Amino acid sequence: MSSIKKKRTMKLYPLGQKTDTELRMEKKKEEIINKWKITLHKEEKTIPGRNHERKIIITNDNPIVLEKCSLCNEFKPLYDYYLRNNYMDVESSKENINNDEKNPCRECSKLTRKEKINNNTDAYITRLLYNYPKLTKKWYQDQIEKNGGLFSSIIGVPLTAASSGCWQVSIQNNRRDLEHLPENCEIISLEENIPQHNAIPDLKIAFTELFTEMVEQLKEPDSKKIIDDHSRMWEDRYKLTPAESGIKIKSRENGKISKEYDRELQQKHLKSMFTCDAKAAYARDKNSKRQINENERIYEKDVFNIGQKQAWKCFKSGVKLSMNRNSWNYPSLERLDNSLNHTNQNTVLICRLLNSTDRAQWSSEKLNYALKYQKLVDVPDEIKQFENENKQFNNNVFNSSEDEKNKASSKNETKKTTTKRSQINSTEI
Ligand SMILES: [Zn+2]
Repeated sequence: MSSIKKKRTMKLYPLGQKTDTELRMEKKKEEIINKWKITLHKEEKTIPGRNHERKIIITNDNPIVLEKCSLCNEFKPLYDYYLRNNYMDVESSKENINNDEKNPCRECSKLTRKEKINNNTDAYITRLLYNYPKLTKKWYQDQIEKNGGLFSSIIGVPLTAASSGCWQVSIQNNRRDLEHLPENCEIISLEENIPQHNAIPDLKIAFTELFTEMVEQLKEPDSKKIIDDHSRMWEDRYKLTPAESGIKIKSRENGKISKEYDRELQQKHLKSMFTCDAKAAYARDKNSKRQINENERIYEKDVFNIGQKQAWKCFKSGVKLSMNRNSWNYPSLERLDNSLNHTNQNTVLICRLLNSTDRAQWSSEKLNYALKYQKLVDVPDEIKQFENENKQFNNNVFNSSEDEKNKASSKNETKKTTTKRSQINSTEI
């Protein structure tokens, strides 16, 4: 077990902020320059090194020790290499550094690292296109050109050509009845890439409506009366019988429930719709590798209670949910923690539009980010300035206990979301 290499974690920093590595480097540099100033003669000379030539020069009245880099062949100060930790204890000008082709000066290391990342990008695109023989790298490049950069063709957010878990490039086929043809396909983020049933015929329209709603809510949150009326509408509808819900056809044919009647139930009769949703969720849990606990599974009544708790608004975006099964904002059962099943504690209702794959789950932070950088809807500056804190959605929709849950659920995403407007820096070189 111990031989398994721990995955290297990336630390994210806001743009412009110095990284831990940079700060450590600055400290080292300052310390070693001071040490040289005290211990070395102010005399320029060449000195023998172990594998590479060294020389001492005087800059700004300070003696600086340089060594020739094995990759770029330039003389660089020792603090521009990976300096071993004992640098303060070793005799001046004899400090140990890494300097070979694999570990050259920091500048060279940075460049080779960038090359590696570019190679990975290439590999990612190759893998992405692998299953679609008609989609070539030329097609991919044309997409980037068409979108004025590596942006989503639907909402316009910047994309990442890597398995980042955040806004990674995926392919949208606008003619699902056909194979992936260049003229019908577009690049979009994995977040936007949802199984498109007849419910969402046009993702662009759906996202436009979503963002419009979100902006409206941020500009002027729903009044208590609107929220109450909206809840009452759901409660009233939930009480209706199939006939009252507008189903006119006969329920039975030859003693059996007719298929057509069943279909009608699942379109119009809210209780039946919830039953169907709860069953589907249970089936997915059963199909997963997760362990099933029969006592915890949710039923139609639970779906209703969850909706009631959320005031029938989307848990993630805060927009009002729709009873129309064929709309983008009909509720979809979302698990807060993907390692757990659909239980009462772990399930919330979200717009079906936001029910993306587990690898690219939406969060309130991601929605804020999307709202800021999407190109579908005009967003007033004061709303764009509103940062990560997703209080404005929550205050209006959830009580404080729900707040906690929301925080817990989106905590994992917070860090990831900062990626786009931040630099990514590995903690160690
Ligand atoms: Zn170099």
